[in-house]
Amino acid sequence: MPVVPTAVEKLVTQLARLPGIGERMAARLVFHILSEPETYARQLARSFEDLIEHVRFCSDCHMVCDGEFCGICRNGSRERDVICVVERVQDLLAFERTNAYRGLYHVLHGVLAPIKGVGPDKLHLPSLLTRIERDEVQEVILATSTDVEGEATALYLARYLASTSVTLSRIATGVPLGGELEYIDPNTLTRALDGRTVMG
Ligand SMILES: [Zn+2]
Repeated sequence: MPVVPTAVEKLVTQLARLPGIGERMAARLVFHILSEPETYARQLARSFEDLIEHVRFCSDCHMVCDGEFCGICRNGSRERDVICVVERVQDLLAFERTNAYRGLYHVLHGVLAPIKGVGPDKLHLPSLLTRIERDEVQEVILATSTDVEGEATALYLARYLASTSVTLSRIATGVPLGGELEYIDPNTLTRALDGRTVMG
């Protein structure tokens, strides 16, 4: 006989797959949910369903949205000839918090990591090329993080986009080496953006 009901075990196993959540933390969360009024668990379940039903990724920049295109791509007052390439949605949000950037974005949803089996085919690269050509983009800012994988991805992108006439720039130092953009304060991030250098 299992010590805990299968439903508990199942949820613990599923939660433990999330980044930063081990078995123990997963169990703690499940028992916390069980200790709350039933409405909380029901609301939680509904939120997950809403996520599946209503949230998708922008056809252009791959940001999360609830329609075909995200609010940034639909916003007519954004500069459309500059694209800031980021690894993750959280990085895009970090740039948005600076209020300093008025262009568009492109979310790769990852970085090159051959050891983890992430090759160029796993990133949203062809759609970036399409956008650059279709929208006559003048500048692409490579804002992948400054760790080894982020740098390797920026270099790969520079080669990938070499056939286009777009100006490529890389965010400046000021972003601590190995730093995840999400945790950098808006002022530092703004300086990194302002101080970007054109790649050779
Ligand atoms: Zn978009």
